[in-house]
Amino acid sequence: MTSLEIKHLNISFDDRKVISNLSLSIDSGNIASLLGPSGCGKTTLLRAIAGLVQPDSGTIRLGTQLIGVSSVLLPAEKRNIGYVPQNSALFPHLTVERNIAFGLKRDLYSKNEIESIVSEMLELIGLSDFAKRMPTELSGGQQTRVALARALAIKPKLVLLDEPFSALDAQLRNELRNEVVALLRKQKATAILVTHDREEALVSSDQIVLMRDGRVIQTGTPEEVYESPISSEVAMSIGDALIIEANSEPNGSIISMLSGQTDISDKSMGYLIVRPEEIKVSKRSIGSGPSGVIRKIEYYGHDAMLQIELAKGKRISARTPAPLDFVVGEEVWLDHQGPIRYFSNQ
Ligand code: ADP
Ligand code: MG
Repeated sequence: MTSLEIKHLNISFDDRKVISNLSLSIDSGNIASLLGPSGCGKTTLLRAIAGLVQPDSGTIRLGTQLIGVSSVLLPAEKRNIGYVPQNSALFPHLTVERNIAFGLKRDLYSKNEIESIVSEMLELIGLSDFAKRMPTELSGGQQTRVALARALAIKPKLVLLDEPFSALDAQLRNELRNEVVALLRKQKATAILVTHDREEALVSSDQIVLMRDGRVIQTGTPEEVYESPISSEVAMSIGDALIIEANSEPNGSIISMLSGQTDISDKSMGYLIVRPEEIKVSKRSIGSGPSGVIRKIEYYGHDAMLQIELAKGKRISARTPAPLDFVVGEEVWLDHQGPIRYFSNQ
């Protein structure tokens, strides 16, 4: 079932278009990651969904309810959306429990109901012992959890998270991200997570939405977007990619193009996209693949990225699994195992 459906959305500020004819739908209970460069309109899109920005045209539906069009606008507080804004701060003068209770209005909930929801939320985020603390007495990760609990307390149909983990260091970020995803799953919430971290997008979502200049350039499952990008631009934004200029879809193997055995005209008409993990590296010649010399090794533990110089100075990257069996300066032979992704510029 579709939970959120946006059609032909346009938003501009002072005659400058920020969201251009954007359409997007997210299934109920799914987590979608919104990925795109700074300034492409991610926050504006979230604010429009939350009811804080008025679109010029287009429709926003939540379930069967029309919540946003240019003329009729359901007010933000009636949308039942949990919104954690970018750099969202807790109310500094309120305790943790009062921060969480903030969205629970007394005309809708009794005092007892509010107390029981707050304690349920505290338990959910694992901070039951911190109810009476002030925000300044919490770590960054704990503050993020409270901000999330505040958004989830109203039992929203939709949760919008705008780069919630960007202020945290890498390890805490991963831990908290996993917790938050588990939490959203437990609540069966539909969610949009804005991130500029492609691994975060791949690992935490059912659907990835790639944005550029106020538009959606591709959306799909993490696998679809990573394995079958619709353009070299998408390929580069979702993972490491070797971009090889080519004037046609190759007849032979990609590896022969890499070695320059196939003619690649100067007047390039397209690109081949190869992922570094699709380049197989071996110590002996296997078949027709070219050889090269390892110029650089980036060691990550679970794998390593090799930079290999081919004939004519061409360099490519190859990702090899652990344990590392290569040294800088060594001659190696290459093969390609993976799909052929060719994008014509025409
Ligand atoms: P992102 O979150 O992807 O970094 P934003 O949605 O914050 O991008 O911003 C998209 C563009 O809209 C930017 O160029 C930004 O300067 C502009 N913008 C955002 N909010 C406003 C506003 N209230 N008034 C004018 N311009 C804005
Ligand atoms: Mg933003």
